[in-house]
Amino acid sequence: MASDTGGRRPVPLSAPHLAGNEWRYVRECLDSTYVSSVGAFVGRFEEMVAARCGVRHAVATTSGTAALHVALLVAGVEPGDEVLVSDLTFIAPANAVCYLGAVPVFIDAEPEHLQMDPAKLAEFLRGECGWRDGVLRNRRSGRRVRAIVPVHILGQTVAMGPVLELARAFGLAVVEDAAEALGARWRDRAAGALGDIGCFSFNGNKVITTGGGGMIVTGRADWAARARYLTTQAKDDPHEYIHREIGFNYRLSNVLAALGCAQLELLDGFIENKRAIAARYLAAFPPDGPIRSLPEAAEVRGNGWLHTVWVDPARAGFDSRGLLRHLRANGIESRPLWQPMHLAPAHAGRQACCGEVAEQAYRHCLSLPSSVDLTPATQDAVIAAIRSCPPGTAA
Ligand SMILES: *Cc1c(COP(=O)(O)O)cnc(C)c1O
Repeated sequence: MASDTGGRRPVPLSAPHLAGNEWRYVRECLDSTYVSSVGAFVGRFEEMVAARCGVRHAVATTSGTAALHVALLVAGVEPGDEVLVSDLTFIAPANAVCYLGAVPVFIDAEPEHLQMDPAKLAEFLRGECGWRDGVLRNRRSGRRVRAIVPVHILGQTVAMGPVLELARAFGLAVVEDAAEALGARWRDRAAGALGDIGCFSFNGNKVITTGGGGMIVTGRADWAARARYLTTQAKDDPHEYIHREIGFNYRLSNVLAALGCAQLELLDGFIENKRAIAARYLAAFPPDGPIRSLPEAAEVRGNGWLHTVWVDPARAGFDSRGLLRHLRANGIESRPLWQPMHLAPAHAGRQACCGEVAEQAYRHCLSLPSSVDLTPATQDAVIAAIRSCPPGTAA
């Protein structure tokens, strides 16, 4: 990091905070010698996440991406099907659709909170799809449309009311990507537990971490059983090595689950801290300013994962990438949003329902340091550094 921080440590975007029973549980795990995928912590972690989300079943996986892959499979997505995915997202859910030989169609974000826009979803389903022999098909491609993947980005959630209504009306499965939204709530329900099946990630930069890991949650016993079967190589006999299907080695290890149990015990405190950080940024950069905080939606209580601002270059005198470079020079990490999926070379040629909002957000937004242990003094320094960004710092 840059040297002009006066000897201070760089301010990370969102650093893991290992402040509870992590050492104790990992030691317990090592002492037991059950370090692999058989062991008490995996089951315990699954139960804790299920309880936290208010769902019956949870299946731990090696990553959030693996969780998405298996959740889509369990939800009935087949090769050649189409799946409607948020355009403004980390690439994992779009890739997971492709792992199945299915095809993502990208749905633009709404301009206020940058989540999947239910109006665009409705526009696509009503305007571009039709029923043929009881099967919903995209008229342009002729492919069957099978599922929606609303991605709850930045610790907030998609406006699920209309999404769930559309899913019901069009007979689509809802596979939530709640990788960034553990602990976030929509109305009185947990992100991940709003659709048919939900996925979490415990990667290093998420709200809680196991170093790497994921989880599938669902209220459906048959889907949970199938997810468990598929994530453990689809083994059909407890003793013999007999397999009816092609499964995956996606089971989380007990060591990592031990970390997860300890981290989950801390989640409420993490969210409290992160929400306080978000509130201070919101006060400094209100939603009508040249650098404006993304507001929280009325029905949502976010987890504060990454506080994000929209930089208006005409009013601020600098743009988001100029600000990013200025902060970096001051030892402060910040992060742009993801290139929208319809622009990603990896997904070139895919159909998208608009994408203008996602493009604007990609261009103008920046996520600010939101670590659980960010002190008010350090946050004040971050805010001062943003305010001191010289005009004309444009990309
Ligand atoms: C992190 C993330 C994932 C992938 O999780 P991994 O555990 O890194 O595989 C998927 N979707 C979103 C929105 C994410 O932010």
